[in-house]
Amino acid sequence: MLKNKYTSEDVELSCEVFPPKRDDDMYEIFRTLDELEGLSPDFISVTYGAGGSNSKKTAKLSAYIQNVCDVEAIAHLTAVGMTRASLNGHLEELRKKGVTRILALRGDKPKLMSDEEFEKREYRYAADLIRDICDFGGFRIAAACYPEKHPESPDVESDIHFLKEKCELGVDELITQMFFDNEKYYRFRDRLLGAGVDIPVHVGIMPITKVNQLGTSVSLSGSSVPTSLSNLIAKYAEDPEGMRKAGIEFAVRQIEDLLKNGVNGIHIYSMNKADVTKEIVEAIR
Ligand code: FAD
Repeated sequence: MLKNKYTSEDVELSCEVFPPKRDDDMYEIFRTLDELEGLSPDFISVTYGAGGSNSKKTAKLSAYIQNVCDVEAIAHLTAVGMTRASLNGHLEELRKKGVTRILALRGDKPKLMSDEEFEKREYRYAADLIRDICDFGGFRIAAACYPEKHPESPDVESDIHFLKEKCELGVDELITQMFFDNEKYYRFRDRLLGAGVDIPVHVGIMPITKVNQLGTSVSLSGSSVPTSLSNLIAKYAEDPEGMRKAGIEFAVRQIEDLLKNGVNGIHIYSMNKADVTKEIVEAIR
């Protein structure tokens, strides 16, 4: 928890990690988590591989965060690749491990899944998964939201309409997709409040510390890149250390502005980089 120096309200601070692909790299992520624990985050969330790949690692890392780091863990879970029977198995396992918070998502089509298989999925939307998690009971549920609308939505209005429906099923909090232009978030916040959605929102901040990040995670997210950020990337194309520093400064400036505008949940997409996350948190504290 942080104190907002501009409004003197409490701000929840959290971050996201992802399980490594190779088993050999598990040691490294445990070390990263030990370092993140030192920042006293309110929670750390753990991603879920597309279509359920690596799901055991999500549960294992969530249990480590919850029981060894003594930080609240949020395990991500996706509808794609999930059946009613497998959902119960996942929920039982998380409950046994003491993990009681879930980010319930639809997920995207994994590379190796055919269009037909994706279309035939048992749970169509995140909302369908949320309904069954609520019926199972005992979990605090988070859901995703998109300040610049979900890429498949025809327009912002329909995205907010379905988001509101999803929230009304029993969602306790929202985590946003990354965005780099705060004005877009403020407009989204107004629309959410206008639609009567007033649960806590953790805003997703992705520090861009490497030039190639824009070609991977950012382009997949559908988030727009303001000129101020693309200029930095052009400027530091051949200077990795300069890019790292400028990317951290950009994230810090973005968070400072959010704090000034009354945002009270900051969620850092850590990309498993404890050093970058630590520099940002120290700067905003
Ligand atoms: P939904 O809420 O189901 O929405 C998907 C689309 O369907 C939207 O366009 C929505 O408007 C529309 N829609 C919803 N309900 C209806 C309806 N009844 N009728 C018609 N249209 C409808 N992916 C992973 O694989 N693993 C992760 O760990 C992961 N973590 C994420 C964390 C965050 C914070 C975010 C923002 C995304 C994450 N994703 C992850 C990506 C996510 O799975 C994709 O963005 C996915 O395409 C949508 O998931 P959702 O839960 O938002 O879907």
